[in-house]
Amino acid sequence: MTRKFTGDRLLIATHNQGKLEEMAHLLKPHGVTVIGAGELNLPEPDETESSFVGNARIKAHAAARATGLPALSDDSGIEIEALNNAPGVYTADWAETLTGRDFTMAMERAHRELEEINAPHPRRARFCCTLVLAWPDGHDEVFPGTVEGQVVWPMRGTQGHGYDPIFQPDGHDLTFGEMDRWEKNRISHRARAVANFVEGCFG
Ligand code: IMP
Repeated sequence: MTRKFTGDRLLIATHNQGKLEEMAHLLKPHGVTVIGAGELNLPEPDETESSFVGNARIKAHAAARATGLPALSDDSGIEIEALNNAPGVYTADWAETLTGRDFTMAMERAHRELEEINAPHPRRARFCCTLVLAWPDGHDEVFPGTVEGQVVWPMRGTQGHGYDPIFQPDGHDLTFGEMDRWEKNRISHRARAVANFVEGCFG
């Protein structure tokens, strides 16, 4: 039986503004206001696991321990089939530079690696999101969500964040980067994971 969340403010264990804004929008209809880890100056723990759920657990438990509040974390990324599901848990790492994250560079790398192996079209890919809600006593619950689609080139659109300009979800002509953010929020991996979270913890 899933432990219920009672409260109207939820700590989101992320420093990623794009994720935080999407989460705020997705949880608003359920009467929940989100607080970001950045607002509370929480440190960003190292993501040392090799799975989305492992890293999501690290972030959620660190935030719950530090604050004494239930904390929801999001670990996510894009899996590109022809690249053996890379970058996967290393999605953010592909964007790292000495001066911050550069997602154009990361998307160029994905495209370059696909070209190098002459990967056939459509270049199948999926966005994955794993949410973990952790309580200060060490209990946690896990909620996954995925959206299938393809990697396209060139990049299209300036909305959203991360790899959105090269991901076109199945059944749509627009990339996530071209979609109105609220349209993306109806169908995304994060929307599906949040729906699971709401069903489990508010139902
Ligand atoms: P992490 O979960 O902090 O390890 O980072 C996941 C990375 O995946 C983010 O920095 C983004 O680059 C990427 N990502 C996750 N969700 C999305 C999304 O909805 N759109 C585009 N990129 C995403």
